Amino acid sequence: MKYLFLLLLISGHCFSQENKLVIERLVGDFYIYKTFHEHEGNRISANGMYLLTKDGAVLFDTPWDTTQFQPLLDSIWAKHRSLATMCLATHFHEDRTAGLEYYKNRHILTYSTKMTDDLSKAHKMKRSEYIMPLDNTFSVGQYSFEIFYPGPGHSQDNIVVWFPKDKVLYGGCFVKGSEASDLGNLSDANPAAWKRSMMNLIAKYNNCKYVIPGQHHWKDQSSLTHTLRLIENHLQAK
Ligand SMILES: [Zn+2]
Repeated sequence: MKYLFLLLLISGHCFSQENKLVIERLVGDFYIYKTFHEHEGNRISANGMYLLTKDGAVLFDTPWDTTQFQPLLDSIWAKHRSLATMCLATHFHEDRTAGLEYYKNRHILTYSTKMTDDLSKAHKMKRSEYIMPLDNTFSVGQYSFEIFYPGPGHSQDNIVVWFPKDKVLYGGCFVKGSEASDLGNLSDANPAAWKRSMMNLIAKYNNCKYVIPGQHHWKDQSSLTHTLRLIENHLQAK
């Protein structure tokens, strides 16, 4: 009985830890991680990503849940024996930037664009150590990836990241998941400009194999056109 109780205690602990941080493989060296946040009684998830390279793991956005900064690093080490060496944020909101300072203090190179840094400063969000240009290509280990600014949308500063070899588009909150029924948090959004920005993105990357939205489902390919439809619906309803 005592052992059963202990077992339940241990498995209960693992379950709750697992539930706070969900990691799934996308393809090859790409992994999607999810953390969660309570908002008005609802549990909302946010997608982040990491890429394993020969020069360490690169984090795309930080966990939203502030208790999961270190568990994410620990999980990457436990699963892959890889140390995170770099982290970049795709816009200034908390679900992207919350862990920047923590990671900077762990000697991880943290990056955001000048626009994101200015907005982070103005809104008292955590800030990165380094500024990256809007349209920049990074080479890390055997991978290279492009930073692209499609224009304003979910926020003024939202960027996406493109991995040409694997045709992965990390869209962040600029892209809505295919089951989203509306554009979500519009507190810093520019829906009128979002339509043109989304068309820029679709024109530039028209051969994506995987598109990762900032929230929800990432396992189908319709999220770009679905987001465009949501923007159009929103504009028509006005
Ligand atoms: Zn946001």
